[in-house]
Amino acid sequence: MKVSIIYAKWPKLRYQPEFHLPPHGPVVFASALPDDVEIRFTDEHVTDVDFDDDADLIFMSVMLTCQIPRAWEIADEFRKRGKTVIFGGIAAQLHFEETLPHADSVFLGEAEGRMEGVLSDFRNGNLQKVYNFHNSFPDISLVKTARRDILDRELYNFRGIQMVDLVHASRGCRFNCFPCCTPYLGGRQFRPRPIDAVLQELESIPNNRIFLVDNSLAQDDQWEKDLFREMAPLKKKWVSHPIKDDPEILDLAAKAGAWYVYQAIVDTSDHIRERVKRYKDHGILVEGTIILGCDAVGKIGDHDEDRIKRLVDFLLEIDLDMAEFTLLTPFPGSSIRRQYEKENRIISNDWSRYTCDRAVFQPKRMTPEKLEQMYDYAWETFYAESSKEIRMAKLFLDVLKKEKKDGTYKRYDVKNKKRWGRKQNVTN
Ligand code: SF4
Repeated sequence: MKVSIIYAKWPKLRYQPEFHLPPHGPVVFASALPDDVEIRFTDEHVTDVDFDDDADLIFMSVMLTCQIPRAWEIADEFRKRGKTVIFGGIAAQLHFEETLPHADSVFLGEAEGRMEGVLSDFRNGNLQKVYNFHNSFPDISLVKTARRDILDRELYNFRGIQMVDLVHASRGCRFNCFPCCTPYLGGRQFRPRPIDAVLQELESIPNNRIFLVDNSLAQDDQWEKDLFREMAPLKKKWVSHPIKDDPEILDLAAKAGAWYVYQAIVDTSDHIRERVKRYKDHGILVEGTIILGCDAVGKIGDHDEDRIKRLVDFLLEIDLDMAEFTLLTPFPGSSIRRQYEKENRIISNDWSRYTCDRAVFQPKRMTPEKLEQMYDYAWETFYAESSKEIRMAKLFLDVLKKEKKDGTYKRYDVKNKKRWGRKQNVTN
């Protein structure tokens, strides 16, 4: 059987540098397909969709809310041409009812151990309209090494710079932050993969630079320490979401190759100042992720013009390496959406505007227009003295230094494109 996995294009955040990372969801999903399935993968960010595709089945893998309108368009076109289309992924789950008219089937939940049944139904002409595994999680040890061989690696280097490969070492999140739909989707229970399986996957990746896309590594101290101890001999350099703020764990993380972290910054407190300093004292760089437009968070009250200005000044004071500003966006499945729906503060349900740089709700202390202006202000002010390109170059110089120090630096052979290898449209 031939299947095509399609990953629809979404609009990038305004101000975000234009590069594309190899996607994670589709390659993880591909690893859950039976071995005898021939897989073709199209990432519309880097290549066009071939609507004359001869696949037996089209899988639309959808991660983001702002990706779903384009995924529906693509699916409609394939179905017009007689193809059977199945939707899966985070956004398919969040937008399940709206997706039904665009799909022959919608798969909700995690795919491991479940695709044999779906494909067998398809072969027998008995495909179900809905496969609902929401909140029913497969045994985490069923997660295999992602099928990165379906990617065309050459399409994911940026001006000859080796980017990162995405890997996950765990699923679920025991926290419940207000803007986030992970607790709804992945459950409140932290589900770490067996460390051996993670190591095996890391070893299989020729790329030395990794993004551990786990929701948060700071969920189980012993697991985090064990993971970092085991990772250290691989000498990978990696990026992640927060690491536990504990001297022993930060030390182990640094020894395991922590390169930089994405750290949410909600206020201007000494706690944040010290948190960032402790990362940096361990040689770990920090990219702040800052949500603008919140009602009272941490030590700053409801965001208004002055408070956002103060927050940006603070980020410069604490010498963040990079900052990514987004506007609060009430995604389906998040607790903030439930609250704003009750308060009648949602002003747009046009999912193509849910890009995190548009005000789609009524802020408490500003107009939506002013909030969008403050988004521009934040990006422009933070990067006024030292541009994104310069700051990104500094991040990469840091990793080069680390790689040269431990002998893991590999020069990218632009002409022969050797380091990545290339394999697409693989038949198992
Ligand atoms: S924002 Fe991160 S830490 Fe908070 S609930 Fe979501 S995934 Fe968990």
